[in-house]
Amino acid sequence: LEAKEEVTHTTLAAHAMHPRPGEPPLTLLTQEDMTVGEVRQLVRDSTCNGFPVVASRESHRLIGFALRRDLTLALENASERAEGLDDSSLVLLGPPRAGTARASVTSEPLSCPLHAARPLKLRSIVDDAPLAVSDRTPMDTVVDMFRKLGLRQCLVTRNGRLLGIITKKDVLRHMAQLANEDPKSIMFN
Ligand code: ADP
Repeated sequence: LEAKEEVTHTTLAAHAMHPRPGEPPLTLLTQEDMTVGEVRQLVRDSTCNGFPVVASRESHRLIGFALRRDLTLALENASERAEGLDDSSLVLLGPPRAGTARASVTSEPLSCPLHAARPLKLRSIVDDAPLAVSDRTPMDTVVDMFRKLGLRQCLVTRNGRLLGIITKKDVLRHMAQLANEDPKSIMFN
């Protein structure tokens, strides 16, 4: 009975993550169908420190995580080098397509028209193994992971589909709520 009660009162990752019900959806990058212009605008319009990368808006399959500062730098560097790049160039953030004898050709997105500007390859700035927990993970476990692994953020998924994000500050707010304290007064490390 005791064990059951504990489970009932435990907050799950699903309840601590963003977006909460009624909030705007996550600000996401897709692995190979966004243009330089779209990525620039996303970085300009959002204040978040990082953006999950998904396979597509339909699948929401988690591919990686890109930090805002790395994206900003990479876009600045790319504009300086120019090299046939313009706002309509595609940005490649996901792993290359499965290799074949003609890997260098087939690894580019099939949707890329032949006459389009060359794509901008930014795979190297994407963390392709970001830490993720299931939405049913108890927040006690998530807090432990943040402490022990020194995480800045953790993604929340269900069956590989991205649902949300929990940042270190979200964890601090969660702990403060539990303790009914000011988040700043909680020692994290
Ligand atoms: P911090 O929590 O340290 O301020 P962020 O600025 O990245 O870090 O995040 C601010 C808030 O927005 C957090 O509550 C977080 O859960 C949420 N958040 C973080 N990244 C995203 C994102 N890409 N899309 C939507 N919400 C996000």
